Amino acid sequence: MAEQVFLTNFTPSQLQEWVVSLGEPAYRAQQIRQWLYRSLESDIHNMANLPEELRAKLAERACVSSLRPLQHIRSVDGQTEKTLFALPDEQTIESVLMRYESRQTICVSTQVGCPIGCSFCATGQGGYQRNLTAGEIIDQVLHFARLLRPEGLPVTNVVYMGMGEPLLNYDAVWQSIVVLHDSQALSIGSRRFTISTAGVVPGIDRLSAETLQIGLAISLHAPDDELRDQLVPLNRRYPLSELLAACHRYVAQADRRITFEYALIDGVNDELAMAYKLIELLRGLPAHINLIPLNPTADSPYRASRRDRVVAFHRALRQQGMKVTLRLRRGVGISAGCGQLRSQAGDHQQGQRP
Ligand code: SAH
Ligand code: SF4
Repeated sequence: MAEQVFLTNFTPSQLQEWVVSLGEPAYRAQQIRQWLYRSLESDIHNMANLPEELRAKLAERACVSSLRPLQHIRSVDGQTEKTLFALPDEQTIESVLMRYESRQTICVSTQVGCPIGCSFCATGQGGYQRNLTAGEIIDQVLHFARLLRPEGLPVTNVVYMGMGEPLLNYDAVWQSIVVLHDSQALSIGSRRFTISTAGVVPGIDRLSAETLQIGLAISLHAPDDELRDQLVPLNRRYPLSELLAACHRYVAQADRRITFEYALIDGVNDELAMAYKLIELLRGLPAHINLIPLNPTADSPYRASRRDRVVAFHRALRQQGMKVTLRLRRGVGISAGCGQLRSQAGDHQQGQRP
């Protein structure tokens, strides 16, 4: 039997080449793309305008999705849903759907585990296995697009904030954005994608050079190298001076403001002095700061900052004219923090099918 391919792994031109290599006319590729990305069809046998014989050929050689849902949980308020998936090699990843008043945001994983190893992050503490393929990233979005469709709701935003470091898997991440943005696919506006990075400087420079402009978030969490070296070990490779220089280059090229994520950790980075250092660090950059009380993970010594410290930190930034949002983290009750469901599920075989 021919080796199975995953259809969402192909760029439009690759799909066309593959279809032609099967002895089919090139326009069939366009029809298949319509089924995948407009009709959100998950069964090749339902692709009605393809001849029966071609459908049989495709079903033998190709899969529509590379993901098998193992577990699906919904927060009590119904606004956050999270799915744990098995990949073809039986590794597991997770993705989250966040429902807001007028948008539906999918938070996707980009790697199995993460090599960066941030000390407060469940994914980082669980080690690193491999990069995801473009298809495995796209399939996470398609899964939720199918789930939302009966409600008449589209996927409006995609954030690369699940497991893994997106800028260490640049090509697959970028391919997924191009495919999902395509007006013949999900047609998600470029500004509705956000990549979150721990600070991979060469990746930020590559993003600066792209013509498609997407949102950039930097996971800062500390205003000086000494503390950031401990929290985000990547800082030893790309210290704050280099990271901030890349941010300035990005802003000069892309003409977009950058979001800085700052998880407030009790007694670690929530002193008012840190707020003032942060203001100094970001001076001159069009920046938006997202303050997030830490979502404590199992086996971690870190705790979320006390409410009064959060409020004081927030106020100090605002009083100095910083644009800042205090984000009460979504989905804490369903372990929607990065990598938490996966680390709890342990062996995915124990997971329940939805
Ligand atoms: N690797 C990328 C994207 C995935 S992590 C990055 O680090 O940016 C997505 C966000 O969740 C990052 O801002 C990360 O720092 C944050 N995060 C991870 N663990 C967290 C925790 N326990 N509590 C709060 N935020 C956390
Ligand atoms: Fe990786 Fe991001 Fe977690 Fe750090 S916070 S370990 S970079 S996923």
